[in-house]
Amino acid sequence: MSHPTFFVKSYGCQMNMYDSKKIVSILENKGLRQNKDIETADLVVFNTCNIRDKAAHKLYSDIGRVNKHKKEKTIAVVGCVAQAENEEMFNKNKSIDIVLGPQSYHLLPQMIDDLKQNPKQLNTEFIVNEKFDYLSEQKRKQGVSSYLTIQEGCDKFCSFCVVPYTRGPEYSRPLISLLNEVQFLTDNGAKEIVLLGQNVNAYNISHHGRKINIADLIEEISKNKNLERIRYTTSHPINMSDDLIKLHATNEKLMPFLHLPVQSGSSNILKKMNRKYDTNLYRKIIEKLKAANSEIEISSDFIIGYPGETDDDFKKTLDLVSEIKFTQSYSFIYSARPGTKSSFEEDKTPLSIKKERLSILQDKLKDIQFEFNKTFCGKDIDVLIENQSTSNPEYFFGRTPFMQSVYIKSQELNPGDVKNVNISTCNHKNLYASC
Ligand code: SF4
Repeated sequence: MSHPTFFVKSYGCQMNMYDSKKIVSILENKGLRQNKDIETADLVVFNTCNIRDKAAHKLYSDIGRVNKHKKEKTIAVVGCVAQAENEEMFNKNKSIDIVLGPQSYHLLPQMIDDLKQNPKQLNTEFIVNEKFDYLSEQKRKQGVSSYLTIQEGCDKFCSFCVVPYTRGPEYSRPLISLLNEVQFLTDNGAKEIVLLGQNVNAYNISHHGRKINIADLIEEISKNKNLERIRYTTSHPINMSDDLIKLHATNEKLMPFLHLPVQSGSSNILKKMNRKYDTNLYRKIIEKLKAANSEIEISSDFIIGYPGETDDDFKKTLDLVSEIKFTQSYSFIYSARPGTKSSFEEDKTPLSIKKERLSILQDKLKDIQFEFNKTFCGKDIDVLIENQSTSNPEYFFGRTPFMQSVYIKSQELNPGDVKNVNISTCNHKNLYASC
């Protein structure tokens, strides 16, 4: 008898992509088979994100499209939209069978079974420690660069963000379970571990009476002999402790690249956003990081057109970008998320002006990224090889310590190698080499 099949569709951030891999493991362990075709799958899981307006809209239109397919199937919505919209989802779309918050998706197999008794299944509780206990038993091989969630949730309550409501308070995973998972990942080919968390640098646990922060955790993880590189994302500026900054000077496995979202270059807007730092503090953190390791490069997120953002506020963002020279960044136009503090603020700036500001900012960020990439042309740099291109097997893909994508034309590379290559050319996105 053939096994029932499932299809998982992911929306949004890196954490969600990572969660989706875990969901695949959970369902495979239940005896279901992954199906690459949404039309013929028996179960479709939508792993949702509520950070941006479009993701929630896209979810409902995607569910609508699935409905049109002939095969009868179970539809599960998990993740942040499920948490935020809760049982209301069943009213918005009758074909949804399961609604499951991001802190309890380990319950998915049980809920699938329970559908026989009750055709609508809902769970949006914050049972995060139970989830991680379960997931630490469900380890899954990843790749040369593997993700490891060390922390979830957020206590910061930025005025525009839904995460504290959808993911709950900050929770850090126990040290032993993380070290075991690192061992499993490196035993299965990982050479780089990317530590993940909504506030990854808020990681904080007590281990045998000793306080362990992210700097201690990185020190522990870096003892693993098979591991070449460590990264962490996403950090909040106010959790950039001196211990962590110092580690960028002393720990050779910790890469000299940091995603440290500033959101705006205007202290006035940062205050409205409840970001808990101003631009002076942000500059001081960058100064300390550069003093610890002069090579370190920074990337950031920017929200453009936050309610009340003036031309002067926007100019301050451009000035900060020119000064810090962020080498990679994500920038978006502000969109109000229901229930957040900022959604009640008056927003008089026309969309056309916001679009213009975004385009000016993105052009500037792109130029800086291109200038940065050009400085590597003709130079040698270590690249961790992640995989061989499937579309063009003559090329291998890897990353520099600064997270730049590198395409290398070669016959002799293997995923997992750290290869010193000479960069021949580049564009704003990629570097190119041959060896
Ligand atoms: S720090 Fe702010 S933006 Fe980041 S997850 Fe928490 S509330 Fe959201």
